[in-house]
Amino acid sequence: MDKIYDVIIIGAGPAGLSAGLYAARAKMTTLILEKDRTGGQITGTEEVANYPGSIKDATGPTLVARMVEQTEAFGALRLKADVTHFDLEGTIKRVHTDKGTFQAKSIIMAMGAHPRLLDVQGEKALTGKGVSYCATCDAEFFSDLEVYVFGGGDTALEEAMFITKFARKVTIVHRRDVFRAAKSIVEKAQNNSKIEFVFNSGAKKIIGDGMVQGLELENYITGECTEILADPNDGLMGIFVFVGYIPETQIVKDLVNLDKSGYIITDELMQTGIPGVYAAGDIRVKSLRQVVTATADGAIAAVQAEKYVDALTN
Ligand code: NAP
Repeated sequence: MDKIYDVIIIGAGPAGLSAGLYAARAKMTTLILEKDRTGGQITGTEEVANYPGSIKDATGPTLVARMVEQTEAFGALRLKADVTHFDLEGTIKRVHTDKGTFQAKSIIMAMGAHPRLLDVQGEKALTGKGVSYCATCDAEFFSDLEVYVFGGGDTALEEAMFITKFARKVTIVHRRDVFRAAKSIVEKAQNNSKIEFVFNSGAKKIIGDGMVQGLELENYITGECTEILADPNDGLMGIFVFVGYIPETQIVKDLVNLDKSGYIITDELMQTGIPGVYAAGDIRVKSLRQVVTATADGAIAAVQAEKYVDALTN
């Protein structure tokens, strides 16, 4: 508790790791706190084809492993701890966690976001038993089976294509008849012979006793409900949900300004409005949530934190 870090970064996804790299390289004493697995959402991505310099061999986990190695090489410390609340006023900020309280002159919030649920009957009970939010983690379990993918954004379509490497057939169910995903990704999915599409529809319930055995779909135009059961020879089917993300801002909602979707509002220097407190990556309001923008945010936040801490001490 006596030690006062120059900066504490909450979250070890691309934004947090990049902030840690820049801060530690600037000789700031740097502590990165991470609740779950290091790397955040990108660790659930098989192919990272659009991060500059990451070519064929770059998966989410390999990219994160390199970021961790580089960040630690500059001297940033990492610790698994679950943050419960903050004291952010004044020049010494306090971060309260399940591993105790840590102090710092500046804070960078990079807690990211978590997957949104469909919020239908059966979903929670069957999560991990046929319902999944991570294709890289679980697609292999559905080898030669039928899979339903929910969502119409880039993630749903890209992950559906990845799942076709394993599944016999993948049906993408989207609540509208126009995809949110980029045209190039839509075209690729449309050209995949294992993928079928169901539009203007959504899940009403997920059926299963111990494992997913079926689902009920509602057509939002006609109101018609259709029960779809797994092929009797399979006995089970997979359901992957990719319907967007919810920012991890519950513990800061009364401390910093959020937009109506719960993302932290910052300026272009990643400042939250509280002196010495910054936000970076998917947790903040922005037009593009990608690894490349998360790492850029982290770098900017760290450089600003360095300037802030320097001004405090000089
Ligand atoms: P997203 O773009 O927010 O799309 C979410 C999709 O889920 C939308 O199609 C939305 O339908 C649907 N949806 C939302 N709530 C729903 C609900 N309750 N029930 C059913 N459907 C629901 O999320 P994302 O696809 O995860 O992408 C997140 C960000 O990462 C985006 O900026 C995306 O461009 C980016 N990304 C980029 C790449 C890439 O460039 N390679 C890959 C992955 C992700 P509506 O369309 O009707 O709203």
